[in-house]
Amino acid sequence: MTKPLVSPYQAMAAGTPGFLARAYFSLKPYIPRPIRLAMRRGWARRISKQCRATWPINPEAGEVPAGWPGWPDSKAFAMVITHDVESRSGLEKVRSLAELEIAQGFRSSFNFIPEGPYEDPAELREWLEDNGFEVGVHDLNHDGHLYGSRQGFRDKARRINHYLDAWGAVGFRSGFMLRQLEWIHDLDVLYDASTFDTDPFEPQPDGSQTIFPFQIRKPGGSGSGYTELSYTLPQDSTLFLLLGEETPEIWKRKLDWIASRGGLALVNIHPDYVDFSGRRTSSCYPSSLIKDFLEHLCTRHKGAFWNPLPRDLVTWYRKEVVPLNRDANPAC
Ligand SMILES: [Zn+2]
Repeated sequence: MTKPLVSPYQAMAAGTPGFLARAYFSLKPYIPRPIRLAMRRGWARRISKQCRATWPINPEAGEVPAGWPGWPDSKAFAMVITHDVESRSGLEKVRSLAELEIAQGFRSSFNFIPEGPYEDPAELREWLEDNGFEVGVHDLNHDGHLYGSRQGFRDKARRINHYLDAWGAVGFRSGFMLRQLEWIHDLDVLYDASTFDTDPFEPQPDGSQTIFPFQIRKPGGSGSGYTELSYTLPQDSTLFLLLGEETPEIWKRKLDWIASRGGLALVNIHPDYVDFSGRRTSSCYPSSLIKDFLEHLCTRHKGAFWNPLPRDLVTWYRKEVVPLNRDANPAC
């Protein structure tokens, strides 16, 4: 992958999340959101120009892994929808977003922050499960400090494992896509979704460079490890809030490319930023953009894709693909 332009936001958090990342996330609560957003928008515009060769499509990421058996029922590609719920206002919009997806015949996962800006939404979790959705764990406190130290992570992993167990969840995603993939072995998960094939806008901008799932094995070969699901469509916040896109054309273009390569289209949509009354503001975009994208998926690719919950995709992957690829473990 061409080395992406590094914005100051990224410089503070590049590589493994270290001192500068911790400093940034310590200062973040004191910088007014409009100022942070304006700064990030400026950097995002520069990055999108500099990274045209590798974003939104990095051609190298389309390479089919050796021994790939194809998707169940001979489907051409898979489409997985995930959601991270960041705030109380996001929580209030979860049902509307889930109902929009139900109306179009989709199911997805919603990841909640266990000890963050809102109380454990027990009733909402139950409603989602009853309606065929999956619930996952999103970070612990969502403050950018999850990977601050090895021992600190071990302590937090115990808390996260408590919520995974209590919620019956098997999937995890870090806040801000920060990650230490080796440490994630401490979590009792089947999969992690804190990576992306290409996303030069994130604080740790290195991509997995693949649009296929892959397995992160435990060092020393003990146990099967966990499956990594990279998101492969840009995040809604990047497209509609940072870059100011007014249509889902980039989602559609990337989706069509993933479909042509037989990969996994995985998107992360935040209910927090969706406006169901059709308004566009500095922090929200109209829900019609999601509807438009899902309609494109259903008409252009009718019958050609599999829409599993992430946990169902991973269960299939561990049963059918992992045994075929003992040595497959792309670097991320
Ligand atoms: Zn988040």
